[in-house]
Amino acid sequence: MGSEARDNPHAVVIPYPAQGHINPILMLARILHHRGFHITFVHTEYNHKRLLKSRGLTSLDGLPRFRFETIPDGLPQSDSDEDVTQHIPSLCESTSKNCLAPFMDLLGRLNDKSVDDTEVPKVSCVIADGGMSFALDAAEKLRVPGVLFWTPSACGSLVYTQYHMLREKGLFPLKDASYLTNGFLDTTIDWIPGMKNIRLRDLPGFIWTTDGNDIMVNYIIRQVERTHKASAVILNTFDCLEKDVLMALSSIFPNLYTIGPIHLLLNEIEDDNSSCIGSNLWKEDPACLGWLDSKEPNSVLYINFGSIAVVTSEQLIEFAWGLANSRKPCLWIMRPDLVAGDTAVLPSEFLAETKERAMLAGWCPQERVLRHPSVGGFLTHCGWNSMLESICGGVPVLCWPFFAEQQTNCFYSKNEWGIGMEIDNSVKRDEVEKLVRELMDGEKGKAMKKKAMEWKRKAEEAAEPGGSSYEDLEKLLSQVLVKKL
Ligand code: UDP
Repeated sequence: MGSEARDNPHAVVIPYPAQGHINPILMLARILHHRGFHITFVHTEYNHKRLLKSRGLTSLDGLPRFRFETIPDGLPQSDSDEDVTQHIPSLCESTSKNCLAPFMDLLGRLNDKSVDDTEVPKVSCVIADGGMSFALDAAEKLRVPGVLFWTPSACGSLVYTQYHMLREKGLFPLKDASYLTNGFLDTTIDWIPGMKNIRLRDLPGFIWTTDGNDIMVNYIIRQVERTHKASAVILNTFDCLEKDVLMALSSIFPNLYTIGPIHLLLNEIEDDNSSCIGSNLWKEDPACLGWLDSKEPNSVLYINFGSIAVVTSEQLIEFAWGLANSRKPCLWIMRPDLVAGDTAVLPSEFLAETKERAMLAGWCPQERVLRHPSVGGFLTHCGWNSMLESICGGVPVLCWPFFAEQQTNCFYSKNEWGIGMEIDNSVKRDEVEKLVRELMDGEKGKAMKKKAMEWKRKAEEAAEPGGSSYEDLEKLLSQVLVKKL
C-alpha cells in the first residue's frame, strides 16, 4: 500500500446500535467507500456478535479500505442467546454516558502511527448517528469535521427540535394519566413552523407521559442541543417529500443535507463486492422472494413491524383473524421477539385456514420484498426506513404506529402524501379485515397506490444525477467531508 492510499480521506462512522439506524448509516459508509474513502465502521460488541451469528460467520472481514471495529455499549452483558432488541431507554442512557471513552481510544489507535499499519490513513472525519452525538466531542478533539446523521424522517426530526417548547408550553408532562384518554391528545398544535393541522397525538409519542424527567425526552432534547455543534446534519429524505418541514428545519440547522432515499443512491453504484457487507441482526429467510414470485401482481399484503415494535398476544390474535378474514395472500414477518414477554404463537385454526395463502417468516430482505411486483400493500409500524422503502416500491401503507416518530410518519402518510390509512392502536379483527380489503381492492386503496407510484418516481428523480439528493451528497462531500484535507 503506497502513500497514495494513506492520503485517502478516512471516515469513522458510528450508528446508534439498532437496526433502523445501522442500515442507512452503513449505506452512507458504503457510498463513501465507493468514492475512495477509507472507512472504519463502529458496531457495539453486542450487535457485532449478532451480525456474525445472523450470517453464520466468525469475523466480519469487510473489504479493502472498509474495516469494522467494536466498542462496548456499556450495558451489563446479558446471558441470553443475545437475539433480542435491547431496551431502548437503557441503551440511550448507556451509550450517552459510556461510549465516548472507548470511542476516543479507538480513534487514538487508528491515528497512532507507531502501530505498523500503513494501510490506515489518518482519521479525517467522524460521522455519527444523531443519537450518538457524544462522538462530536471526539471529532472536536481531533479537529476534524463531526457530522450527524439523523435517521428519522424530517417531520419527526422537526418535532424533536420542538420538545423543549412542548415542555415550556405545559403540553408535557401530562398532568395525570387521565390526560391520555380525556381528549387532551387531540389538542391541535399550530405553532410548529412547517406543520399544519397536527395534533398532540400525532407527535412522537415519548411526550405522552406524566414523568417530567422521562429518559427519552431528556435524551432527545440533549441530542438536539448538541446537533447545533455538528459540521453538517444529514437526513435520509428527499426535498419534495417534506418540503415545508425541511424549510423549517434548515432554519434551525442551516448545514442540512438531504440524501434520501439513501438506498437508491447506493443502488446506483452497488457492486457485488460491497453487497457482502451485511447489516441484518436477525437471520434472513431466503424463501420469501421465491414465494412472492408465485403470486399475482399487487395481490400480496406484506406485514412487518420492524426491529423494535412489539405486540401483545391479544393484538397478535386480532391481527391474525383480521388478515385471515380478509382472505388476501399475505407475507407476515414475525421476529422471534415480536410478542412482548412471550413467544409468538398463532392459533392452529389460523394456520390451517391460511395455509394456502400465507407465508410466515422471521426476517426478510425487506427492501427487495417491497420492490417485488406481487406486493400490493404494506401493514407497517411506520418506521422511517420502512416508509421510505415502501415509497420506493410504490406500495401504499396501512399504518399501525408503535413509538418514537412513527405517529408523525403515519400522520404525514395519511394527510400529506396520500399513501396511508391507519389502524386503531387497540387492534380489532373487524377493522383489520375492513381496512385490508379497502387497501387491496377498494377505491381509496387504488387512489393511494396511484399516489405511492407518483412518490416512487419522485424519489427516483431525487436520487438521479441532477436530482436534489444526488446533488446534496455531492455538496456534502465537497463542502464538508473532503474540504479540509
Ligand atoms: N428490515 C429487514 N427485514 C425485516 C424487517 C426489517 O430488512 O424483516 C429492515 C428494513 O428494511 C429497515 C429496517 O430493518 O431498513 C427497520 O427500520 P425501520 O426504520 O423501518 O424500523 P425500526 O426497526 O427502526 O423500528
